[in-house]
Amino acid sequence: MTALQPVRGTRDILPEEMRRHRRVIETARWVAERYGYQEMAVPLFEFTDVFSRTLGETSDIVTKEMYTFAMKDGERLTLRPEATAGIVRALISGGLSQHLPLKFFFAGPMFRYERPQKGRQRQFHQIDIELLGVAEPQGDVEVIAVGSQILDALGIGAKATLELNSLGDPESRAAYRGVLVEYFGDHRDRLSDDSRARLERNPLRILDSKNEGDRGLVAAAPVFSDYLNDYSRDYFAKVRAGLDLLGIAYQVNPRLVRGLDYYTHTAFEFVTTELGAQGAVLAGGRYDGLAETMGGPATPATGWAGGVERLAMLLAVAPEPPRPIAVIPIGEACEGIALRLSEDLRRSGLVVDLGFAGNLNKRMKRANKQNARVAVLLGEDELAANVATLRDLDTGVQEKVALDQLAEHLAQFS
Ligand code: ATP
Ligand code: MG
Repeated sequence: MTALQPVRGTRDILPEEMRRHRRVIETARWVAERYGYQEMAVPLFEFTDVFSRTLGETSDIVTKEMYTFAMKDGERLTLRPEATAGIVRALISGGLSQHLPLKFFFAGPMFRYERPQKGRQRQFHQIDIELLGVAEPQGDVEVIAVGSQILDALGIGAKATLELNSLGDPESRAAYRGVLVEYFGDHRDRLSDDSRARLERNPLRILDSKNEGDRGLVAAAPVFSDYLNDYSRDYFAKVRAGLDLLGIAYQVNPRLVRGLDYYTHTAFEFVTTELGAQGAVLAGGRYDGLAETMGGPATPATGWAGGVERLAMLLAVAPEPPRPIAVIPIGEACEGIALRLSEDLRRSGLVVDLGFAGNLNKRMKRANKQNARVAVLLGEDELAANVATLRDLDTGVQEKVALDQLAEHLAQFS
């Protein structure tokens, strides 16, 4: 029965994988916070225009990946495929522009209708930071530094390299666009159908084509850096100088373009060779024109999004769940006190496992299965003396501890 399968491109995240996700998200949140980025969230869906008018009408997302549905009144809504457009919408509709600059951190699920494969799903998760209202190259340096520190804090910094490019300002872009139209126009018949359609509307996107035939042409295409005007060239130099100063290694990749139309100047991707074709783990850039495109005040901005699934796969090991304290009543008469004691210990912040039934033997087996750190044995002898027997499950050493000192005593095991 197909209805009992998860929908194609969606997955259940069971506890072990969830712990990986949590490690990624909590680390990112914590690192971003140190730079002053505050967590916020935008809705899971928006009016379709928020995405279709901003991401670019030839972008993969808008042309084929959006989950769009119509309401009874004909209003069209779209599940968010990314965070930036929604956050900029929030900036404008919430009148936040007067508080610029703003720094936001965001984490949550995104939806894109694409071909599922390892590291590519239809529902996936992103971490995201946005720095709004900062036009200086230092802004780009900062967001890249945040990304770099997150990768290091996750212990995967060595598995990813930073690729960097400049997409210039609108003037440089127009100049480069002209050159590209000419170049690809000369090879029109060798382009894929998709790219031929892009030729008229957005030739830059051809550089991002995943089609093998296009790739050959792209490799020999003129490069953006030759067409940057002085301002853009200087801007890019300052971003690189900032990264050099911080000792953040990068490779300039003149072929790097981002899939979305709203980028200007800085574009970057942290890529890994460990995930097959899905190598980009964290990617972003500067998007000075986006707020204005949406009808808001011109707002320089920069940021990135990271793929939680891909980052989680790079973690060497899944974090372990906390080791509980196993509370074990011996005999029915002791079950009440075991229940109450467990409650008290949990209230004092300890992780406690209390089985629901079974004799000593069965409960000890459970304690081992739960990887318990220590067992608290409560039998009638203990009760009479107001103590509990503690058994260190790693060493087997036992001791008796007064019940009213138990929480304090157990803290050393957590
Ligand atoms: P790709 O070239 O892999 O399709 P993208 O350019 O579409 O990536 P972005 O829009 O920049 O991706 O999103 C930022 C990050 O989110 C990516 O670098 C990747 O790690 C992750 N990501 C994007 N799409 C997916 C997906 N369908 N499934 C899982 N992760 C994804
Ligand atoms: Mg994509």
